[in-house]
Amino acid sequence: MQLTNTLTMKKEEVIPHQPGIIKMYTCGPTVYGYAHIGNLRSYLMEDVLEKALRYEGYQVDRAMNITDVGHLTSDADTGEDKMLKGAKREHKSVLELAAFYTEAFFADCQKLNIRRPDIVVPATGCISDFIEMVSALLEKGFAYQAGGNVYFDTSRLETYYVFGNQNAEDLAVGVREGVESDENKRNKTDFVLWFTKSKFEDQELKWESPWGLGYPGWHIECSAISVKHLGEYLDIHCGGIDNAFPHHTNEIAQSEAYLGHPWCAHWFHILHLTDASGKISKSKGAKLTVSLLEEKGYDPLCYRLFCLQSHYRKPLVFSFESLDNAVSAYQKLTARIAALGKDGEPDLEAAKPWQEKFKAALANDLNTSQALTVVYDMLKSDLSDAGKRFLILDFDQVLSLDLLGAADRLAQPAREEVASELAAEIQALIEKRAEAKKARDWATADAIRDELAAKHVVLKDTPQGTEWRLEG
Ligand code: AMP
Ligand code: ZN
Repeated sequence: MQLTNTLTMKKEEVIPHQPGIIKMYTCGPTVYGYAHIGNLRSYLMEDVLEKALRYEGYQVDRAMNITDVGHLTSDADTGEDKMLKGAKREHKSVLELAAFYTEAFFADCQKLNIRRPDIVVPATGCISDFIEMVSALLEKGFAYQAGGNVYFDTSRLETYYVFGNQNAEDLAVGVREGVESDENKRNKTDFVLWFTKSKFEDQELKWESPWGLGYPGWHIECSAISVKHLGEYLDIHCGGIDNAFPHHTNEIAQSEAYLGHPWCAHWFHILHLTDASGKISKSKGAKLTVSLLEEKGYDPLCYRLFCLQSHYRKPLVFSFESLDNAVSAYQKLTARIAALGKDGEPDLEAAKPWQEKFKAALANDLNTSQALTVVYDMLKSDLSDAGKRFLILDFDQVLSLDLLGAADRLAQPAREEVASELAAEIQALIEKRAEAKKARDWATADAIRDELAAKHVVLKDTPQGTEWRLEG
């Protein structure tokens, strides 16, 4: 499997630290509101990656955090805590807010057939792990205390900006601190590991620590949760591209300082979903969520197909017109599958080259649109219908578009129609036979019985009339 690695900006082979096992970490949602379909593009493509790796034959150990504390409204460690702000808005406690939107997030994921990672950990459940990591960073001289907070000292690193794509715009987040400067920081790129003092003193959740009552910085949670659950070597770290800086840059700084060796080999970033205005936010006043798509009558899986049609490393522009195109592509595809016969056994040997093509598309930097082309080509090929159905089911382990299910639902009314037409035809023949019998036209009556028998219809004459059933 080759994936673009943001460290080098090149396509690189994923070589797991432990052969056969991929350790994969995903930055989870900050649960202060509903996820928008942009956020979900990231989780959806990460889901495809996990499933593609499993399809290749890897065991995938995957962990994800839930950010329920410490993510401030500015990525530069300033502003209010997003959770606290959300809780005030909704007159809930922070933990109630977190519980509500965590559930909402997984409900949306389920509608998009995004598998829940095996390990899902809320940040508030790991405070002692964060304290342990911050203590170790202080001991090793990578952190310092100032003005009540603990900061990571980025001047201790040989390289702080590690990603190959860091441009002036990304780096401006650090520079912006010139405007809203934190006097405690020794270097403008230093970041908070533990807060006891912030401009917003009314933080609802605080914990005892060696540095006083306080709460963790945002970045520390992903480093600590990843090391705790996936070990010292991570193979793939995922997230939306906005997280590359400062969040992932800071994760790398503190994890490698803590571990004393390189930490994660491969950084998988999904480019943003945007709309015509350039930023996914609101649609006529309503946030673009899965629920909004449903309210407008869209099957969420059509949004999944829409995402799969594009490469994760390219920005994707959303519009309802382009979603309509995905709807019609989904309908055409499932109609084609619905037309496949269901009898016979698949020829597994003949299916293999298609499986190889499908794998090759995914191994080529998770080229999902190329993988979809393999699906279309396979359906057009001279493979048997049984082979095609087998492969659709097989490919859907990665695509998760519920292709057979949707096809069968499509075929259902058609089957019912055929059944009711047949019933009407049989009934008409039975009536014709009754008339023939009444007229003592035994030859016609017998001929009709034979005609029905040829259709596997068995008749039973009763005092109430003639009953029928299908043989077998
Ligand atoms: P958050 O809940 O803000 O922590 O974001 C959750 C995930 O969504 C992160 O991986 C972000 O990088 C990602 N994300 C945010 N906005 C977008 C977008 N417009 N398109 C794709 N991913 C996004
Ligand atoms: Zn993270």
